[in-house]
Parts: sequence; C-alpha cells; structure tokens
Amino acid sequence: MKIAILSRRAKLYSTLRLVEAATAAGHEVEVIDTLRCYMNIASHKPSIYYKGKSLPYFDAVIPRIGASVTFYGTAVLRQCEIIGMFPVNESVAISRSRDKLRSLQLLSRKGIGLPITGFAHSPEDTPHLISLVGGSPVVIKLLEGTQGMGVVLAETPKAAESVVEAFAGIKVNILVQEFIKEADCSDIRCIVIGGKVIASMKRQAKEGEFRSNIHRGGSASTIKITPEERVAAVRAARIMGLNVAGVDILRSNHGPVVLEVNSSPGLRGIETTTGIDVASKIIEFIENNAKPNKTRTKGKG
Ligand code: ADP
Repeated sequence: MKIAILSRRAKLYSTLRLVEAATAAGHEVEVIDTLRCYMNIASHKPSIYYKGKSLPYFDAVIPRIGASVTFYGTAVLRQCEIIGMFPVNESVAISRSRDKLRSLQLLSRKGIGLPITGFAHSPEDTPHLISLVGGSPVVIKLLEGTQGMGVVLAETPKAAESVVEAFAGIKVNILVQEFIKEADCSDIRCIVIGGKVIASMKRQAKEGEFRSNIHRGGSASTIKITPEERVAAVRAARIMGLNVAGVDILRSNHGPVVLEVNSSPGLRGIETTTGIDVASKIIEFIENNAKPNKTRTKGKG
C-alpha cells in the first residue's frame, strides 16, 4: 500500500516509528508536510498539490496534526477524503476532539463518566458556577490549552474567582471542573485502535504538581486497567468517531472519568513504557480497513 503521514516534522519519534512500522510491513510510505499541501477547491476535479507538484494518490493517510495547525490540517485531510483516500482518523472527528467543550458535551450525551464541568460566559455567574461543580478546590482550564498549559488548580473560592476573573479579562474561554482529588495527581492514558484498548499507562505528576502530563515532568509506568475503564475508553473513542485515540481517564470515587480524547496521541511515552509496538498496530489497522472512499463523512462534516 501507499501510505502518507501528514506531519510537520519527519524527525519526531511518532512519525519515525510510523515510517519504520509501515516500511517493515512492506508498504511504501511518505511523510508529507501538512502546511506545504495546498489545494484547488474551485476545480471540478478536487486536487491537492505538494511543493509544486500534484500530490499522488495514497491508499491511506495517517494524520498527525498538531493542535496549532488544526484548521489548516483538517482542511488538507478533508481534501484527501474527498479524493477518496482512507484517513486513519477522519477530519470531522479530529475537529470534534480538538474542541474540549464540544467533546465533553458529546461524551456526556452518551452517559460517559466525566468530571463535573461548568461553562459560563459572564464572570458575574462565577460564584454560582463554582458551587455547581461542588465548590473549591476546582480545576480551571483554558479551552484552547494543550499539554497541561492553562490548567490551574484553585484551592479556595477566592483563588477560583481571581483566576476566572483574570481569564475573563483577557477574553479567553474556560471550563471550571470538579477537582478529582482521589486520582492522586495521576491519570491513565489508554490507546484505542479500531475499538480496542491496545496499550495503557499511568502517568504520575512530579512532586508538588497535580498535572500528570509528561511535558510537565510527570512520569509513566505500566498499569492494569479495570474492565470498566476499558469500556469507558473504547466508548469515548467511538463517540468521538476516532479509530485511533489516546483516551485520558482519572480514577474518581464515582468511577472512571474521561478527561480528554486525543486524536494524535504521542507514541514515545506509551511505547517506551509498555514495550508495545503501537505504530505497527496502527499499520495493521490500515491493512484491515483501508479502502477507497470508505470515509464515513466523505469530508462533508
Ligand atoms: P491538557 O489537554 O492540556 O493536557 P488536561 O485536561 O488533560 O489538559 O489536564 C492536564 C492534567 O491535569 C491531567 O493529565 C490531570 O493530571 C490533571 N487534571 C486535569 N483535570 C483534572 C481534574 N478535574 N481533577 C484532577 N486532575 C485533573
């Protein structure tokens, strides 16, 4: 098969591993810089160009679209879908998962366990919003944040109000969330591929920090997840419409709660921690599923 990896950086661990796995399985693979793709939308024949030439047809596209280029990246992927290439994750599903609020709303509609979460526009409603999610301590999150940036723990009502006011002052949208204390500053990352959890790890925040992101100094270890956690991860990926997903779960005293569903989960942490060849599992998923024009939404969403 001919496989394209849409990625800005060919040297990233995840990109390198996908190239390695695809090559080892006998496929032809190319890393395509997402931001160097451009398209002719007016044309009757939809097309994509890459660095001055027409982009050849690929049987499958693996999107590795960073949060900062979601808009352009999903437009490129949508064009691939219109042409009939098989995307590992569809553009619509990626856009959906990048919007934290929309994701939580979709998951809540289907009864997935979530931290109690509030969203309001006016700072006047802040005190009520904080009490709605159970009062302080609360976690306050920038809607646009990634890798733990813009995630703040406010331990008292006064601190919470000040943080909300500060964010409102710079006109950014935030979520206010129940703090899951019993998770003990750790979370669980489950990798779901084609409706199965194929690897999972626990991430523990460093001393004095509640965010367990590896980028914030967290450390990873192997973990055995419960059947309930497995079901939550698989359902969350399915609800978001993602074939490949990194589902982040906290162990709360009201069962597993889903924090986030990531459409381009990094491979380094999970592969080095578990020893599982996640890249090859993604290639296997392609082998078993890629067909021309198989996209559910055909770029229509
Ligand atoms: P990001 O998408 O920026 O990583 P997250 O919402 O995943 O933001 O939060 C980052 C980290 O902060 C999580 O991995 C978790 O360790 C911690 N965290 C986030 N929300 C909560 C919460 N409601 N209760 C307890 N810990 C939380």
